[in-house]
Amino acid sequence: MKVGIMGGTFDPIHQGHLLAAERAREEAGLDEVWFMPTNTPPHKPNAPKATAAQRLDMVKAAIARDPHFREETTEIRRGGTSYTVDTVRELKERHPDIDFYYIIGADMVQYLPNWTRIDELVKMITFVGLARPGYSADAGQLPAAIRASVLTVAMPQIGISSTAIRDMRRSGKSVRYLVPEPVFAYIEENRLYES
Ligand code: ATP
Ligand code: MG
Repeated sequence: MKVGIMGGTFDPIHQGHLLAAERAREEAGLDEVWFMPTNTPPHKPNAPKATAAQRLDMVKAAIARDPHFREETTEIRRGGTSYTVDTVRELKERHPDIDFYYIIGADMVQYLPNWTRIDELVKMITFVGLARPGYSADAGQLPAAIRASVLTVAMPQIGISSTAIRDMRRSGKSVRYLVPEPVFAYIEENRLYES
């Protein structure tokens, strides 16, 4: 079985994440995509605004109706700073029969050389890189060992980010349709990102 891990802060999950996962699933021939919220991302200056439990709730709400998608809680359960290399090692130990892929947007493709113990990670996994406005998903400029581990997949460019959604909420704007409907309802109910 081939499984794609869609890792992210998901603060909140939005349509760009879902479309990226679906394009990756189809183009890379994945059987399933597992959405995995990070506990504490190593590369972001600020802590997530929503709690890990809230971010997981939103992920669950977003993917509930898709039989190919499920949530993965390894990083939240482990706590602390989430290093993908530790997570992938753990997942492979737990599921020796599964062939894992790791799905990333173009911003993360360009950032791969900075990932912790990337040399170990590229030997364990194939990355699936997707287009994102403002960034190149082309791995051509990356060191050879990293480049060889990236499979690039096309997708319509979606200019949605969680940062923009949080900013819109803070200035009182509607984020409806930028996120799936159940996520929109959850954000409103829990008054997330208002300040
Ligand atoms: P933030 O603005 O808080 O960084 P984000 O929108 O970038 O949020 P993340 O949770 O940081 O979302 O991203 C998780 C993964 O999804 C990353 O690999 C990122 O590149 C990818 N991703 C996020 N938004 C898009 C998008 N619009 N198109 C393609 N990939 C995306
Ligand atoms: Mg991001």
